[in-house]
Parts: sequence; structure tokens; C-alpha cells
Amino acid sequence: MKVLVLGLDGAPFRLWDELCREMPTLRKLKDEGAYGILESTIPSLSLLAWPVFYTGKNPGKIGIFVTKLEKETLSDVKLPTSRDVKSEAFWDVLGDYGKKVGVVNIPVTYPAWKVNGFMITGFLTPFGAKDFTYPPSLKDEIPDYIIDLEILTEDKKLPDRDFDREKVLSRQYEITRKRKEVCLRLIKRYSPDFFVVNFKGVDNVQHIYWDVPEKIMEFFRFMDGIIKEFLEVCSPEYVFIMSDHGFHPRSTKYFYINRWLELNGYLRRKVSLKARISNLTYVVGIKVVEWFPFIRNLVPERAKRKVVVEGMRERIDWEHTLAYADWHRGIYINRSLPEERRRALVKEIVEKMREARDPETGEKIFQRILTKEEAFSGPYTDMLPDIIWLPSEGYRINANLYPSLTSPRLDAMHTTGEHMADPRGIWVMHGKNVKRERMDAKIQDLAPTILALMGVPVPEDMDGEIPDAFTEPLKVEYVKRERKEKGEFGYTEKEEEELEKRLKGLGYL
Ligand SMILES: [Zn+2]
Repeated sequence: MKVLVLGLDGAPFRLWDELCREMPTLRKLKDEGAYGILESTIPSLSLLAWPVFYTGKNPGKIGIFVTKLEKETLSDVKLPTSRDVKSEAFWDVLGDYGKKVGVVNIPVTYPAWKVNGFMITGFLTPFGAKDFTYPPSLKDEIPDYIIDLEILTEDKKLPDRDFDREKVLSRQYEITRKRKEVCLRLIKRYSPDFFVVNFKGVDNVQHIYWDVPEKIMEFFRFMDGIIKEFLEVCSPEYVFIMSDHGFHPRSTKYFYINRWLELNGYLRRKVSLKARISNLTYVVGIKVVEWFPFIRNLVPERAKRKVVVEGMRERIDWEHTLAYADWHRGIYINRSLPEERRRALVKEIVEKMREARDPETGEKIFQRILTKEEAFSGPYTDMLPDIIWLPSEGYRINANLYPSLTSPRLDAMHTTGEHMADPRGIWVMHGKNVKRERMDAKIQDLAPTILALMGVPVPEDMDGEIPDAFTEPLKVEYVKRERKEKGEFGYTEKEEEELEKRLKGLGYL
């Protein structure tokens, strides 16, 4: 094998010293190679970070930004499928140049597509889905293979307070062990030149056990044993260990960004009766959930979304609104304003956001704020927000119009860790001529690096850059690629509901 990539989903750089102490195989690779922070996307979410990893491109070129990018914002949120990612994966390029590839459990690869080798899809694959392997016949050979924890979707029957995390943890060990076995079996059979697998369990375990460091380290030690087994079976020329974002304690407060825009004079609320009722429904809903937390699990996602997202359209006086924030995306400036005015507003709002503080504690709400020009480029830039943010740890940015600026956070009460405010993942690269030094990189840098290591030309529109990590410079060729359409594909309503439940279970939505 030429290149092996092992993903430890959400392995945080902040635990680097502990990881190196507890994981002898990781430490050895690090001692003999290049390593450091792998900087994720903003927001730091798997379902954005992994498509950026596998395309080597920013969201402006791939056409998704957390959710599917559609013209209208503040509309029904659609989760992305692999077909919504409007760019090829670097392993498609490898395949075109005759390299055999194996791809397992990478988020946002469902439905699977044709590759020169094999593929099993990952995170955001609906339960019971059929199109989760390439070749399609592969699924018959792995009848008991499980992509992700199903326990989190049973929330409906499971009030947060009854969440049995011991059970979830032992299930996660089982799923991970099984995944490793299937991977090693397929590697032996197909002998791919390139293989990548992501262990999503690392992320799940940290979400539920962040408050018990020993449980987390135990899982990392278990992962170190798995890394060792892969190295023995594959003997790769180059190996990458990487993660797609960091981790930190669960945020405990909502910050109401649209309320903040309103207080600063950028957003106007409608005063009609309908709008007031819509507002009241939300505020009462929040209070009810505060008193009876399990109620939120009884209401279907679709109904909640109706009150929360679609209701927002009713509550805003669009004619007098200069800027508003959309869920997980960022701030949009009113499109009907002249270009110059919009630019001025971006500048003004960014400056104010830098100073935005929690009225109760005085803490800063945002760590980093980026404008569209700083964050994105490419054909889909138009649909992306004008301003995006990285929140401070402790705050979940909420787009609802609430009477106050902050309130206690109510969702995903059974989780103790999250990663929205920590983009610092890890990476290690080990192999011939690799410098032995600390070197930070960005998640989009791995795609061109892997292509170059495999002697395959790099698509010229990739945003990633090859790090200066080799004692002898890599020979890199660039190539212009034709865009291939993968065709349309959407989740069914039932699948969408189930996937959203799972995302909520992890505290993502
Ligand atoms: Zn992740």
C-alpha cells in the first residue's frame, strides 16, 4: 500500500500530550514524522469538514455548507448527501489514474458512487439504506456491518435523563471492532494502493463521556491498538493519522444572534398578530422544555422545525431588516441593498461582533469572525453567508428571536462534550523523506498532498496546499479536470427525520 489514512474523528489537539503518552503507536509515528494541528472548517462539524477533506476545496466550490446550499435561506433545512457535494473526491482522481482505492466510513459519502476499488459509506447514511457500498454486491458480504450507533435515534422512547451511556459505550466498542475487521478483510482481498477509514466512534465517545477523561483515554488506547494492526497488515509507504476537528466541554448557554442584531438596529421584528403569536409559541415552547426536558424528544423534528425555522420568516419584518442570521450558517445582509451599502454593513457588524459579550458574565461571545471574502471562493459563494463565526467555548449560537440575549442551553442534555468551538484537530504524517517536526496544516491540505505522494496530478482548483514537510521537494503536477455530474439524490422524509434525530442526539442541530 502506498498511502494509508486513519481518521480519528474529533481527536483534539488539546489532548495531544495525553494522546502521545497513552498511545505508543501514535507516539512512534509522531516521533518519526511531521505532526501538529489540523485546522478544521468553520463551523467545526464533521458534515462540513469531511467533504472539505475529500475534495481539498472550500464550501464555495463544493456547494454545501453544513446543510445543502439552496437559494433561499431560512427555509427547510436539508442535510447533504454525497450528490450535493458538487466536486469530485481526491480518490476519484486516484482512480482515473489507475490507482486502486478503498474508502470506508467517511461522512457525507452516502449514497456510494463508483470508484476504482471499494467504498462503504459513513455518517449521514440512513439506517436500512441500500446504496451504502460500491460495488453494490459488497453489502451482501457484510450483513452485520453497522455504520453508526442507532441508540441515539431512540431518543423518542428515551428521556435524556434515562440515557444509558454505559450501554452506548460498549455498543461503540463493538461497532468499532467490527469495522476494523471488515476493513482489514477487504484490504487483504482488494490490495488497494490507497485506503482511508474514519473511526466516528472517537467523536461519539467524546460527546457522551467528555466529563470522564479516563473513559475517553481508554477508547484512545483501544484505537492505538487498531492503528498498530492496520500498520502490520498494510505496511504502507506513507501513513496519515488525522482528525476533522477538536473537542471541548458542552456549551451551556444559548446566545441569540438575531436578538443581538435586533438590539443593534439591524433586524426589525414584525408587529402583526400572527408574528406575535409565532414569537409567543416559541418562547412558551422553550419554557415548557425547560420544565419538562423530555418533551422535546416527543415532538417530531419536522414540527419543531416549523416553529423554529419556518416561523422565523413570519417573525421578521423583511422590509426594514438589514441583516439576519440563519441556522449554523452565518449572517446574511439584505440582498436588496446596494453592493456598497452591504459592504459597509459587513464591516460595521463584524466590528460590533468582536465586542459582543454575555450581559451576565461579560465574556466574549465569538473567538473568530470571518467575512465571505475571507472564507469562501468559487461558483457557490453567492449563496454563502456574508459573515461566519467561531463561537467561544460555552456558547451555542441560536438564531431564534428570544426576549433576552442568552438563556440556558436545553438540547442534547445527555452530552458532555462538543466541538463547535474547537477547530483544532490533529495530523501526523509518516513516511520516506518526511521531516521530523511540528507543522500545522489545514484539513483541505491533505487531498493535494496525498495525490502528490501517489504520483498523481493535483486538480488546479483545489484550495489545499502541500505542506513544506519533505526533505526532498515533492514533484507536483497540476491538471485541469472536467466536472462530472453525479446526478440528483435526496433522503426520504423518514430518513431525513431519523438523521436529524441522530444529529440532535450528538447536539449538532
Ligand atoms: Zn467529526
